[in-house]
Amino acid sequence: MDQIELKHITKIYTNGVRALHEVTFTLSQGELAVVMGSSGSGKSTLLQVAGLLDKATTGEVRIGGEDVSGFSQVRLADVRMRRLGFIFQAFHLNPHLTLCENIMVPMLINDHFRNRKEMWNRAMDLMEQQGIAHRKDHYPGQVSGGEQQRTAIARALANDPDFILADEPTGSLDSKNEQRIFEELKKLGTEGRGVLVVCHNEAVRDFADRLLIMKDGRLV
Ligand code: ADP
Repeated sequence: MDQIELKHITKIYTNGVRALHEVTFTLSQGELAVVMGSSGSGKSTLLQVAGLLDKATTGEVRIGGEDVSGFSQVRLADVRMRRLGFIFQAFHLNPHLTLCENIMVPMLINDHFRNRKEMWNRAMDLMEQQGIAHRKDHYPGQVSGGEQQRTAIARALANDPDFILADEPTGSLDSKNEQRIFEELKKLGTEGRGVLVVCHNEAVRDFADRLLIMKDGRLV
């Protein structure tokens, strides 16, 4: 069972803001960890560093025991592609691609897939799991927010990642869709992925295996 380990992570942005201060934290496969805390407390920065989207100023990031702190951008992108899936509040779907094509995008850089047919089949499986297969030929602008977020979840799962990182995944949704997304994230954890959710919605507490609170760049 693999982990994402953050050890003594400090992040100081170029404007001098210290967003993280000596944060040490481990996310294991099979658990859903939730990070809460007020706006500006460093939650998104923590997710960006854990997701290898941004580099820490000091400290160490390990994935599956391997220290990736010194990796080049190319190697980091490879680790992200193979091991991590991302879900964002604003969905970040490409408006010019159908839902099915959006889900196929991460597969294009994965040599596991030999041809477009295999990618298509994988995308359709994921759409069925998310209950959106009937929307495969629709564009993001033609479906509801809940369906867009389920598309984003399917896309995050495209390359069968070990870890899912979600930043305010229900921020744009009503409470019914919100509940559904939390249930889905919980399921991903139960299935054996490590799931890290940054969220300020109290409803997420019921789903968390572990709750972390951030204050002024520290875990408290
Ligand atoms: P949260 O997600 O809890 O709202 P953030 O991680 O977004 O907190 O931000 C933590 C602190 O870092 C805030 O003071 C914020 O203004 C600052 N910050 C975030 N991103 C940047 C950036 N790219 N450049 C400079 N400062 C940033």
